[in-house]
Amino acid sequence: MKDYYAILGVSREATQEEIKRAYRQLALKYHPDRNPGDKAAEERFKEINEAYAVLSDPERRAQYDRGLLGEPELRMEDLFDLFGQVFGFRPTRQAPRGEDLEVQAEVELQDLLHGKEVEVAYARLVPCEACGGQGGQRAPCPTCGGQGVVETYRRGFFGTLLQRSACPHCRGQGFLLKEACPTCHGRGRVAREERLTVRIPPGMDEGHLLRVPGYGNLAPGGPGDLYVRLKVRPHPTLEREGADLVYRLKIGLAQAALGVRVEVPGLEGPIPLDLPPGTGHGEVFVLEGQGLPYPHGRGRGALRVVVELSVPRKLSPKAQKLLRAYAEEVGEEVAPEGFWERLKGFFRK
Ligand SMILES: [Zn+2]
Ligand SMILES: [Zn+2]
Repeated sequence: MKDYYAILGVSREATQEEIKRAYRQLALKYHPDRNPGDKAAEERFKEINEAYAVLSDPERRAQYDRGLLGEPELRMEDLFDLFGQVFGFRPTRQAPRGEDLEVQAEVELQDLLHGKEVEVAYARLVPCEACGGQGGQRAPCPTCGGQGVVETYRRGFFGTLLQRSACPHCRGQGFLLKEACPTCHGRGRVAREERLTVRIPPGMDEGHLLRVPGYGNLAPGGPGDLYVRLKVRPHPTLEREGADLVYRLKIGLAQAALGVRVEVPGLEGPIPLDLPPGTGHGEVFVLEGQGLPYPHGRGRGALRVVVELSVPRKLSPKAQKLLRAYAEEVGEEVAPEGFWERLKGFFRK
C-alpha cells in the first residue's frame, strides 16, 4: 500500500486544510499541461491525485489509516475532475462540507498522567436562523438558468474537452440574492460561541491534534471537524521529552564527593534517590516508570535525573580554610591565599 501522507508530504495528523494546501501546490507543479510529454510528472500527478482522493475524504481516510482500503481505481478523467473541484474549474457534485476548525486546550503536565476532561470554547459558523440559511431572498441565476454550471470547449493536453465549469455570474450557486438577509449579510451563516468538553488522553503529545468529528463549521454538505491542539503549561521543575521527564538536580561539592540521599519531585510526589560518593556533573540517574504514560501503549516513560554540580561563588573564610586543607591533602594546586585580592588591587592602580 502506498504512503499517501508521504506522497503529499504531510504528517498523519494533518488537517483537511493542510492536506488541501499540499495537494494544491503539488498538483499545480506536476500538472500535465505544465509538463508536456514528461511521463514521470504524469505518474506523479496521478499519485498525488490518488492520495488526495483518499485523504480528502474523512471516511476513506479513516479506512486507509486502519489499513482497510484497497488501491482506488482512478481514471485520468477522475483526476481532472478532482483537480477541477479543488481549483474551482468545475462545480463540486455536492454541496460543500463545513470547514474544519482548530482550538487549543491547555493542561498541566500532571494532567497527562491520567488524562483530563477540558472545556474548550470556540466560535463556529451555523446556519442563520433569520433566513433559514438561505442568505436572503433568492432568484434563479439568468446566466446558467439556475444550474450553477456553464459548458465550454477547451483544448488541453488530452485533446478537446467539453469543460463544465462553475457559472461565473452566480459562482456555481445557481441563484442570486434579490435581497440580502440583514442578520448574516447574505452569507447564510452566523458565528456562534460553542463550549465543548473534550477528553485529553493520558500521555498525549504536545502539538498533536485531537479530532472531534462534526464540531467544525456547519454547511449544507455536512459539518466540518474540530481539531483540538494540546498545549501543556510549563512545569516549575520538570521538563518533558516525549514520554520521559527530565529533572535537573543541583548538588554541592561535598554532596558530589561524599554522596547524599535526595528527594526528586516526581509527578506523584517525592521519590528518594541515593547519589553514591563521587557523583559527577552531568551524570544521569534513570527512574524507570516515573515518566508519562506512552500515548499508544502500555507503561510509562522514565524520569531522568540529570546531576548539575553547583560550585560556590562565595565562600566564608572558614570554608576557604577547609577547602585549602582539603586541596593540600589530595595534592591539588590552588591559588595562594590572598592572591585574587592582590590581583584586584593591581588592576585598580
Ligand atoms: Zn449562474
Ligand atoms: Zn441570514
